[in-house]
Amino acid sequence: MTEHIVIVGGGTGGSVLANDLADRLDTELDAGEVAVTLINDGPEQVYKPVWLYVPFGKRDPDDGRRPLADLVDDAVDVRTDRVTDIDTDGQRLQLRDSMDDISYDHLVLATGSTLASEEIPGLAEGGHDYYSEDGATALREELLDFSEGHLVLSVIGSPHMCPAAPLEFVFMADDWFRERGLREDIEITYTYPVQRVHGNAHIAEWAAPLMDERQITTETFFNADSVDPDAQTVTSMEGAELDYDLLVTVPPHRGVDLIADAGLGDDGWVDVDRHTLEAEAATDVYALGDAAATGVPKAGSVAHYQAGVVGQRLASEVRGQIPTATYDGKTICFIETGMDAASFVEFDYENPPSPAPPSEKLHWAKLAYNESYWLTARGLV
Ligand SMILES: Cc1cc2nc3c(=O)[nH]c(=O)nc-3n(C[C@H](O)[C@H](O)[C@H](O)COP(=O)(O)OP(=O)(O)OC[C@H]3O[C@@H](n4cnc5c(N)ncnc54)[C@H](O)[C@@H]3O)c2cc1C
Repeated sequence: MTEHIVIVGGGTGGSVLANDLADRLDTELDAGEVAVTLINDGPEQVYKPVWLYVPFGKRDPDDGRRPLADLVDDAVDVRTDRVTDIDTDGQRLQLRDSMDDISYDHLVLATGSTLASEEIPGLAEGGHDYYSEDGATALREELLDFSEGHLVLSVIGSPHMCPAAPLEFVFMADDWFRERGLREDIEITYTYPVQRVHGNAHIAEWAAPLMDERQITTETFFNADSVDPDAQTVTSMEGAELDYDLLVTVPPHRGVDLIADAGLGDDGWVDVDRHTLEAEAATDVYALGDAAATGVPKAGSVAHYQAGVVGQRLASEVRGQIPTATYDGKTICFIETGMDAASFVEFDYENPPSPAPPSEKLHWAKLAYNESYWLTARGLV
């Protein structure tokens, strides 16, 4: 009998896992003992880190798209469809476009994050973002026209993708306005929902003095709960109000409803064992990347490392062996500190981050990483 591994989500985590399995299980795939199906709700993979550079005119949204058919090994059956229901007892999935259910022996949920701007009244009308392709494209026009006034970057809620990206945006904006001789006419305020400038205390301690040096005003413990687009104000749950001329936000994040509906976790994040990545509420189900509630950042690097762990565990399982691979919380992240300098952090469950001194070399390393991403997704580097 053929064992069927189904991966839902063809982003970083899903495609790295698909290629990992094609390599690791090549003999079993050739022999028809195993089949791997990857289901994504679009024909392309979207590489979101590119969006940080779009508002500053450094990248085009198209740079962040590639056909999944080109990225994923031919041994994997890539299907374009949306999974609409998971029956974890019957081990079956319903699809939006296909009349036929799909059954699985092993399921991996790699469904990522979704933005929930509609949860904050006025946000869709009054705010801009670079956490979506359309948002980043529209923000580019706004930034080009912005020559004086108050730019507010507000991080609304946690967790959100790439916890470094809000810091990166204000550091890059500061530099970009300075380069264009506009900085003296532009005030920049950064708001964050907890009582420091970043969720991780070590990164917050490193970033706060840098923000002071750059005259970036910080407003912590600010949980935006409404935006008034006419008055151009953003109000927090804590009762503070900020006037803005340009509001850029990291909108609230959720997972996908599918996960909550299947009883696998709240807010669309799958409750998992943070070492084995197995779902707590069902057997033969793994989650990885943004979809997995492990407490580590929602980052592509995390999805990548977790895909390797799930690949090893699934290979053991289909061979009748006890899986032993575990995820240790490894996360790496380059943090842009301007238009031509960056820092770097590496940490895991046991070892906290210690940001490297910003340098031009690290900035180029980040750009090189982004360029080589499409090779890493294919498993070539
Ligand atoms: C502006 C920005 C900058 C970033 N910078 C960095 C960075 O520098 N470094 C870094 O490590 N990370 C960065 N990230 C975060 C990184 O992009 C995400 O953490 C990463 O994409 C998560 O991978 P994933 O596979 O879990 O989810 P995704 O890549 O989001 O993929 C999920 C896929 O599942 C699909 N899907 C969802 N539901 C269904 C369904 N029901 N049926 C079928 N398909 C479905 C989605 O359409 C999507 O294709 C950044 C993110 C943003 C927004």
